[in-house]
Amino acid sequence: MTDRRYAGYGVRELRITRMGSVQDRPQDDVEIAVAVGVLAGGSPVLSSQWNRAPLTLGRFEPARRVRLVEIGCADASHRVLFEGTPEEAHARCTSEVEAQLDRIVMGGSYRPGNDCARCKAVASCPAVPSVPDLLGISGPGAPRRSWSVATGRTYRRCPARAHLEGLFLPRDSASEDNEAAIRGKAVHAWIESRHRRTPHRPCTPDDVPGPPDAWQYAEWSVTGLQARLGIQMIADHALVCPLRDHPDDAEVHPERTVAAYDPGADVVVIAKTDLLYRAAGRWTLRETKTARVPDEGDLLDQHPQLALAVLLARTGALPGDGHCHVELERLTGSGPVVTPLDVTAPDVVSEARRIVAAYVQPWHADTRYPAKPGKACADCPFTRWCPDAAEGTGR
Ligand SMILES: [Zn+2]
Repeated sequence: MTDRRYAGYGVRELRITRMGSVQDRPQDDVEIAVAVGVLAGGSPVLSSQWNRAPLTLGRFEPARRVRLVEIGCADASHRVLFEGTPEEAHARCTSEVEAQLDRIVMGGSYRPGNDCARCKAVASCPAVPSVPDLLGISGPGAPRRSWSVATGRTYRRCPARAHLEGLFLPRDSASEDNEAAIRGKAVHAWIESRHRRTPHRPCTPDDVPGPPDAWQYAEWSVTGLQARLGIQMIADHALVCPLRDHPDDAEVHPERTVAAYDPGADVVVIAKTDLLYRAAGRWTLRETKTARVPDEGDLLDQHPQLALAVLLARTGALPGDGHCHVELERLTGSGPVVTPLDVTAPDVVSEARRIVAAYVQPWHADTRYPAKPGKACADCPFTRWCPDAAEGTGR
């Protein structure tokens, strides 16, 4: 075990340091049982923690008491997770804990996501295909990092914020979304819940939340115009629901995170997809956007995640063995529109490459991440860590 270890006067104590606060942190019974079991029965490691094999162990001296403490680095909070005799420590390893440990040792499914950038096995992971030249960048810059369209957007607003995000620093709560953004999240969550039903059923126009002037779904409440607009969008979605014609043989994965590794750039690319589905034997990635008034500009320009989807469609990151389709569903005040994109058309692919490169290249080449204090600070959850944060935004 690493973290801070103390021993003396028959007491052994381990202090686990956490990045955030430990005040309301959920307790992990398996972690506690393993930690106090080792504290009670283990011998001290005398060799350097950097020199892992073989370890040199000191003499075992029985402890009178063992204690496990966790410390929150963000606010100096602390909590005693266990204190007792070695017998009481060993008793924490119940059959339930053992069964859970077995499951952990056996492993499970792959879950590609932000952690992939810190994983040494990413280059050979079956869930993260290596796609040379995915980002059009040669030569690694910084150590391996992950990048998503959200990183690209944040970087444009403030490079420092994107960097602090990449360090996984504890966040302060950001400012609240505006009404349209809350309506968008409520509509997304409602449609996602319909697609998660088993057995699969297509969405229907009368299956909408209510009452019409004020409704809530998950943690999002909407009222007035936004409430009525949200219901209209949900009912409109039924007209273009991907399960409409193929409910029986369809396979549906709402909100799936997919990843690909660009070895040249040494970057793990993460995409949070709205919906991956297979209907009539054909895989499609559908992104859904809600806007009262649709913008008639270039679709890939407006929605860079679509540009990234085009680049990923022919790689193993999306299902369909390199033949995944991509489409955009727009739910608007004037009705639903589904637009398929031709991911095999050279002009579409080169446009997608141009758009993704414009986001990713400056981020990849940057080594300083200068802050852009001002407007970007207003909803930034990292201002307390940022010496350049604009006046009045520090929390
Ligand atoms: Zn649907």
